[in-house]
Parts: sequence; C-alpha cells; structure tokens
Amino acid sequence: MTVNSANPFSARRGARDEFSDDAGIFWRGGRIEIAPGTWFLSHFSGVTAFETADGLVLVDASSEPSSGHIADRLREVTSAPVHTVVYTHGHRDHAYGLPALLAEGQAPPEVIAHPAILDRFDRYGALSGYNEAVRNRQFAGDPQNGFPGPVTYGAPEHLPTRLVESATITVGGCTFEIHHARGETDDALWVWNPDHEVVCTGDLFIWAVPNAGNPQKVQRYPWEWAAALREMAAKRPRTLCPGHGGPVVDDPDKVQRMLLETAAYLEQIVEQTIALLNDGAPPHVDIVHAVRPPESDAPWLRPVYDEAEFIVRNVIRYFGGWWSGRPSELKPASRTSLAAAVVGLSGGVEPLLAEAERATADGELRLACHLADWALEHARDDHSVRARTAAIYLARAESETSLMAINLFRSAASYATLGRDFR
Ligand SMILES: [Zn+2]
Repeated sequence: MTVNSANPFSARRGARDEFSDDAGIFWRGGRIEIAPGTWFLSHFSGVTAFETADGLVLVDASSEPSSGHIADRLREVTSAPVHTVVYTHGHRDHAYGLPALLAEGQAPPEVIAHPAILDRFDRYGALSGYNEAVRNRQFAGDPQNGFPGPVTYGAPEHLPTRLVESATITVGGCTFEIHHARGETDDALWVWNPDHEVVCTGDLFIWAVPNAGNPQKVQRYPWEWAAALREMAAKRPRTLCPGHGGPVVDDPDKVQRMLLETAAYLEQIVEQTIALLNDGAPPHVDIVHAVRPPESDAPWLRPVYDEAEFIVRNVIRYFGGWWSGRPSELKPASRTSLAAAVVGLSGGVEPLLAEAERATADGELRLACHLADWALEHARDDHSVRARTAAIYLARAESETSLMAINLFRSAASYATLGRDFR
C-alpha cells in the first residue's frame, strides 16, 4: 500500500483503535516488544526494530509524516544507532521515514533494498500527474480533494546503499535472511530472523485480501506472492510482523494459518482465471463473472482494501493482454458518439436515466452504472443529469466492501457532480 495520510481510509467507518493482533489493516498503531530487545512499531504502516550488539536493524522506515511518531516510541526504549535498514519495498509508507529514525549524530546506516526500487523511484518522477490523480481517487474518493503529496521520491536520504536480490546478513550477532518475491510490487523483500523466529512480511501480508488487484496501478504478481507466503510458512515463524495491522506474537499455529490460507486464496483465483482463459479466450468480463473467489471469514481475508474481482483482472492483464475480448472494444467509437447513439435509441436522456434509477432501486447497480455513464457522457452540462448520476454512483459506493471500489465509485460521483465525465 502507498498511503501516509492521517486518515487514509476516508471511505471506511468504524476503524478500530485498540491494540490486538486481529485489529487488522485499520489498526492505528503502537509499540509492542515481540522478543527481547525487538519491537514492532506502527503508525499506519509497520516498522520492526531488532536491537543487536552493533546497533539497530530496522525492517522498513515508515513514511515522512508517520516516522516522527515511530521515532518517539522507539526512542522510549532504546538509544542505539540504526546500523542497517531493509526496505521491504519502495512505497511511500515504507521507505521515506528514515531520517527521523536515526540516533542523533550517528553515522549513516546501511540501507538495503531490491534493485528494482530505483526504477520505481524513476517511474514516480515520470508519472507524477497520473499518480496524483489516481491517489486522489483511491484514497480521498474525490478528484478535487488532494491527497497528501508529493514526497521526495529518490531523495538522497532515502536511497539504498546496497541493492540485493537476496542476502543473509549478520549484525551484532543476529542473523537476517533477506528474500525477494514479486507480489504487490516488483521490488519486494521479506525478512526472516531465525534468532527470534520472526518473519517480517512487508505488504505481502496486511490483514486483508492482498492488494493484488489494484485497478489503477501497475502489475501485481499473485502467483509469486502465494509462493512467497508458502516460503515464509516453511520457516515455521513464531511471530509475524506485517506491513499493516498488528503483529502476531508467539503463536506459530496462527501464523501458519494466516500465511497458508492467504496463499491458497491467491492460488485459487489464479488457477480459476487461467482455466477460464484457456477455455476459448472469452471476453474478460465473462471471466470476471465466472471466477468464484474462495470464501473465508478469517480476519486476514476480509475484502476491505482490495478484492478478488480486481485480482482476477490483474491475472488476465498479465497473461491475456489489454483487449477486453469484446469485438467492438478492439477499436472502439468515442464515448460521446456511443452515448449519443444510446440516448437516441432510448428516446432521450430522461428515459435512460429513469431506467438507471430503476435498476439502482432494484439493486442492479452494475447495470445502472453503465446507463448512467451514457447519460452523463451525453449531457455533462445538465446539472440535473450530473446530480442524478452522482446519486447512482454514491449508491454504488455504499454497496461495496473494498476501499478501492468504494473510493473509485465515490470519485465517479464527484466527477459527475463537476460535470467532468470521469476525467
Ligand atoms: Zn504499505
């Protein structure tokens, strides 16, 4: 995840503040000693600190706005300098808070990351306008409501000093195995500390359906993700420190369930999607409607951030290309010309919108949104059409469970209100 606002989950209500290991992705943070001289700290995203004879080894460094909170809690229990930091990936909530975490006057630490982090920093610089728009949609649910940014991607104080595909390092007598896996990102590292039997997952585990489908972001890799979770489970960790949410401490059986059930969830989605692709390469929408995601009421598989339908899309994109499989959409008409034709066949905008509102009232929200799109695309200057379309999208947002879907539909309502036609 790439978030660092004081309230990144503006769409969610009832976020839980208490500390418990099943408080999930919305746990707001704190500090817990997970082993002697070893702490998990979190202020939205997690940092694990291992005190060794030669100084601290940190897994992740939080974000610019959160790192001060993390540092305050860390420095209540240790004044040791930071010897080494491992970035689990280059997202802004994991790799941008290091300056605040350093001890006063200390020498610069070793900063370990995967080589792909440098391409990531370059990409953020090249796509700042795009990223601002998608950030506002994803986290603010409103294109007008600027979500905090930009941050200083690739600034010298954040840059790694050592790039590794994988490595085993020893610091002050403690051992850290660093492993690479493509999951949410292509630069992901996870860390195994055999001394305390602790696994630090980064965002490969976030107390929610994995963010393997994000509709606006680059490719995710759910099949490699699942394999990494199985590799972690094979270490038989006693303690799991996640990218978001609270840790699970000294409960190896629970950690096994968390890792293996999440792996199986991803594997089943991937297997079903590939089987459907193999069955005649049907239009993508048919695959999306045919995949049945595994059912689970486990607190670590709630679809509150991302969701199965979007993971299916990411698998199709990787193996199946960009064309939807619908013949007309290979080289489509413009939105305005298609909308004009549909409105004409409907006998005008009014009957089209009325049908959209009937579908909304009957719970046929997927259908309703198609009809509303055409109405707005044909009559974006009509304030009544704007308002009625916005109402349909707000109803759609209310019906969804994942932050991605809720906030993209809330954004659609905002665009409609502005007459911006989803752009
Ligand atoms: Zn994250």
